[in-house]
Amino acid sequence: MPALAQVVPLTPVEGVYTYRVPDELASEAVPGARVLVSFGRRALTGVIVERTDGESSPARTLKPLLDVLDARPALTPELLELTRWVADYTLCAWGEAIKAALPSGTEVETRRVVHGLAGAESWTGDPRGATILDALAEVNGSGMPVAKIATVLGRKTVPQALLRQLEAAGALRIDDEVQDGTARVKTERHLRLADDALDRPEYEAVRGARQLALLDVLRQADEPVRQADALRDSGASSSTVKSLIGRGLVEAFDAEVERRVDDFDEIPTEPPPDLALHPFQVHALDAITDAITAQRRETFLLQGVTGSGKTEVYLRALRAALDRGQSAIVLVPEIALTPQTVRRFRAHFGDRVAVLHSRMSPGERLDAWNRIRDGVYSIVIGPRSAIFAPVQDLGLVVVDEEHEASYKQFDPAPRYHARDVAVLRAHRAGAVCVLGSATPSLESVANATAGKYTRLEMPDRVPVKGRPAAPLPPVRIVDLAREREIQRLKGALAHDLREAMAERLKRNEQTILLQNRRGYAPVLTCEDCGWTPMCRNCAVSLTVHKPTRNLRCHYCGLSERQPAKCPSCGSFNLRQLGAGTQRVEEEIAEVFPGARVLRMDLDTTTRKGAHRRILDAFGRGEADILLGTQMVAKGLDFPRVTLVGVVNADTGMLLPDFRAAERTFQLLAQVAGRAGRHDLPGEVILQTRNPEHPALQFALAHDFEGFALHELAERAALGYPPYGRLIGLEFKGPTEGGTMTLARRFTDALHSASSHLAGVQVLGPVPALIHRIKRFWRVHTLLKAPRTLPASALAKAVRAAEARTKVASGHRVNIDVDPVGLY
Ligand code: ADP
Ligand code: ZN
Ligand code: ZN
Repeated sequence: MPALAQVVPLTPVEGVYTYRVPDELASEAVPGARVLVSFGRRALTGVIVERTDGESSPARTLKPLLDVLDARPALTPELLELTRWVADYTLCAWGEAIKAALPSGTEVETRRVVHGLAGAESWTGDPRGATILDALAEVNGSGMPVAKIATVLGRKTVPQALLRQLEAAGALRIDDEVQDGTARVKTERHLRLADDALDRPEYEAVRGARQLALLDVLRQADEPVRQADALRDSGASSSTVKSLIGRGLVEAFDAEVERRVDDFDEIPTEPPPDLALHPFQVHALDAITDAITAQRRETFLLQGVTGSGKTEVYLRALRAALDRGQSAIVLVPEIALTPQTVRRFRAHFGDRVAVLHSRMSPGERLDAWNRIRDGVYSIVIGPRSAIFAPVQDLGLVVVDEEHEASYKQFDPAPRYHARDVAVLRAHRAGAVCVLGSATPSLESVANATAGKYTRLEMPDRVPVKGRPAAPLPPVRIVDLAREREIQRLKGALAHDLREAMAERLKRNEQTILLQNRRGYAPVLTCEDCGWTPMCRNCAVSLTVHKPTRNLRCHYCGLSERQPAKCPSCGSFNLRQLGAGTQRVEEEIAEVFPGARVLRMDLDTTTRKGAHRRILDAFGRGEADILLGTQMVAKGLDFPRVTLVGVVNADTGMLLPDFRAAERTFQLLAQVAGRAGRHDLPGEVILQTRNPEHPALQFALAHDFEGFALHELAERAALGYPPYGRLIGLEFKGPTEGGTMTLARRFTDALHSASSHLAGVQVLGPVPALIHRIKRFWRVHTLLKAPRTLPASALAKAVRAAEARTKVASGHRVNIDVDPVGLY
């Protein structure tokens, strides 16, 4: 009876492949285990998705599994199924979806390596061949990766034909060499007393102070001690260890250790206050815990204004799940931006919480992942990829700020939305899902209205210290166009905003200023000829960065010196248009010389832990003003913040994206929610050139319901989500013509593949708004269909078009189901 394994390779290749299971691997080769298989000319990592032993197939002609890489299967059957769904829904290969569910850096790859052979001397052909052989002789038989051969010749591509000639002439050999993934379980040397050490005469004979100290340390510990710790605690050296081992008193061995899992470790966890929940919280919590207790798979939309106590509800719901012995996943948009929230979870649940974040090394991630699977942690907090955490017995999934665009992954595939995967995973596991936000996505609002989700509302802020709830802060609009007309606008900050800031400084209160553009000035232009510096790799203008006097591209990172005069006409009249955070910072320094400002944007937060340092300093009152990009809008809770100013509310509002208004409303409502959260009353000032824009008008009134109704009506009229389905297609290539040709062919194929589907529109191809990024030309086509059409029918049409269109090398088609950014 042949033992067979169905394997999905962890690459963009479609399909499931059958391998023979050698006897010696039979017990480890189970579904969910990672395996090494030969695939074409390479060896690749794959995952077994099924064992199909005994089915009559010509097993002898099948290739065997080369190795099983996991002692315990990496993926549970639950996660295998979930990734299958993600692949089907987002139109990617199953292997790509599985890869997203595994901790990164664990794949084993092979690379081709070239070794020089004895026949090298007799080579008389192509002189470049001699260059290669010389280089190989220099590395003395240790071989050279094929990719490096190109470098030896000073070329970009590997001369494959030449290598084959050299191989045929017996001058070199090309091998596949297995290269391990970078992440492996970390072991460190540990020490322990030998079993009978205390009873042995050698023990009594020990006299050296260091030796005695070391033995003491080991005797007092109940378990083996890391050698490094033992040396530190005893003052002994490694030669002391050696001599004790030599006398048979101490044993050394390697044991698994966990790398430091997150940089929230050092934060002291204050005991959580025992709060009495207010009535809206009680109502919401009861509904959620009821569902958890009854094991009713239910999704809740917890819609509570900023400061209404949503996090408190999550904490107690988590407690309920944990009390039942279940585990939970909490998704947060960006860990680095929400240190306060993470701290609260830590304070409540201590060591039972695993925090996953993007700045973990592959090794740290692997360690955390293994411990989650082993049930050491019962709560996992993390960004979107945490939805694939291998928790056992899932009872609750919380998605905080469920409207956040960062829950959607774009590159690489799978292009999944973590909120949707959360709802699905919870549902399949029979668990409860809570989506929380002050400004829910319109998709979730529609799902609640349709009865798919249960809506829970918390319309008031939490009352403070026996007094009535802090009201949401009043919002004022400053019309920048009018300010300019009456010649009152000197810089980026209008008169009213300056006044309000001055008042805060006088009263020793704090201000948060949002300017959603980093750098100094977004555009440099020549007053005489209109020249503007553009990026050589991207179709965007370069941003002026002040301290370094550089021009930078925010898409590809290109950086060049700012010219002193116009390179086109020689004029010195170069003007910097618009204001980024650096310019606003400079203006504040001019207007309020004594004010202490903290700036938080991508440029000030490149170092690990930088967000937290800035926010902690602001929290301790070491600054009067926190100025930054949308990073300052999220989740912050500082009692002394009484003013929030939005320097330019129009950024992003006028983008040609049907979600532009929704995004603007959400950002304004979020940042406004930072003001006056405690006993000091707050105020919000929005500066704009479009005071009549609905997103602003509804934000002014804190009217989410009104905004949602207005916006949903527009979406319905235009057939956009949540009333329509969209699939975005992005075509990329090195030349404009080639990219457009690919886009046309694919789009034509899409027309014919979808012609039988009623109501489907194929829009495009059109050059993307930014038609070139990192030297790649970009063309878009949009597939639009009524909601009533099943997603699978649309998917089938796209798959058919994909199968029919040949993609030339260097070109790409990115398929994005339910896209969130359309430019
Ligand atoms: P949200 O997550 O909705 O913004 P939080 O849960 O952060 O709201 O609550 C806002 C503030 O009110 C926090 O400082 C929190 O500790 C406090 N808080 C929450 N619930 C209560 C309560 N029932 N009684 C007193 N304070 C509360
Ligand atoms: Zn000029
Ligand atoms: Zn660029």
